[in-house]
Amino acid sequence: MKITAAVATAPETDLDIRELELDEPRPDEATVRLVASGVCHTDAIVRDQWYPTPLPAVLGHEGSGIVEAVGSAVSDLKVGDKVVLGPASCGVCEQCITGHPQYCVDFYAYNFGGTRPDGSVAFTQDGQAISSNFFGQSSFASYTNVRARNAVKVADDAPLELLGPLGCGIMTGSGAVLNVLKPGPGESIAIFGTGAVGLAGMLAAIAAGATTIIMVDIVPSRLEFAKELGATHVVNSREDDAVERIREITGGRGVSYALDTTGVPPVFSQMTKSLALRGHGALVGAAKLGTEAPFDIGTLLVSGITVSMVVEGDAVPREFIPKLISLYERGLFPFDKLVKTYGFSDINTAFADSESGETIKPVLLY
Ligand code: NAD
Ligand code: ZN
Repeated sequence: MKITAAVATAPETDLDIRELELDEPRPDEATVRLVASGVCHTDAIVRDQWYPTPLPAVLGHEGSGIVEAVGSAVSDLKVGDKVVLGPASCGVCEQCITGHPQYCVDFYAYNFGGTRPDGSVAFTQDGQAISSNFFGQSSFASYTNVRARNAVKVADDAPLELLGPLGCGIMTGSGAVLNVLKPGPGESIAIFGTGAVGLAGMLAAIAAGATTIIMVDIVPSRLEFAKELGATHVVNSREDDAVERIREITGGRGVSYALDTTGVPPVFSQMTKSLALRGHGALVGAAKLGTEAPFDIGTLLVSGITVSMVVEGDAVPREFIPKLISLYERGLFPFDKLVKTYGFSDINTAFADSESGETIKPVLLY
């Protein structure tokens, strides 16, 4: 069928809206009519080829929509179902079967390879292949084909226009906090970076009952917003030494938990140094392949800290996304405050506003 999609053609170049041909869904796939899609920092870094997904490509990986057709082997979705799309995973490797699909042995091929696992592409233009299946979905399109496995059915009255980012950015920050760090009531956490991922982590920490929540960034307006949303302390690390400030705030002890959403090497170091004895820090911020960060193994040996590298909040989307929706519905996870909507044709403005920091989480409406 003919569809409309935004195609990434070259690094640091605007996406190009074009008409493409979408193939038929495979037996294990559903065709989804997209209602909305979030824009994530990872779309921009793949457009810019930090990761080598072949261009031209249809990116987008925070899609939400309605099932339009299902393949012959799909038994758990039907036409008309509302779905939020998550990352793809094989479902049969050791990590998938033990509940950690974000570490699927084939994660890179399924999500960044630009094709289905069998090498085929879902989109073509005049017979030319266009990379598809980005994060198993390529949601910057009016329709796409996804494996039923990475579609999460939501209630018929769910606010689909809002829910796409639960499939990546919001899941990444909140999952790192709720599934990996697990702060308890009355505990402390420092979060570096107050973008969508960091703020989602913050909202999750508040929902978990943490009572010292320190947000670190270099953009004053973002820090102010974090405070409005519930941060107990904010630190501008361009003006102040973040590690010193965190130690002051915590009476010299350091924080029990920390999250680096920046992927900036000196920030990772700050995170490790801001932890209390036996504290637990996690990195989710993406950096170019090969990036190394300083880590003081001399001093930190005796600290007993743990550092985790976390993909997509280590979440099982079909279990975790409904949890986030119920927290949201009860007013305990107001992630809608991070969202600003754009028409699909304004996709390049949405990318620019995300890059400049003007918008925390752009969501495109189709
Ligand atoms: P964002 O750009 O909105 O937020 C990043 C924040 O970090 C910004 O507010 C920025 O001002 C701040 N920052 C930059 N340099 C800093 C510094 N030196 N000190 C303090 N703060 C600094 O991005 P986002 O959407 O929140 O995503 C965050 C990161 O997470 C991105 O790198 C993205 O690619 C990555 N990501 C990772 C996963 C995963 O599975 N691990 C999933 C989604 C996104
Ligand atoms: Zn993402």
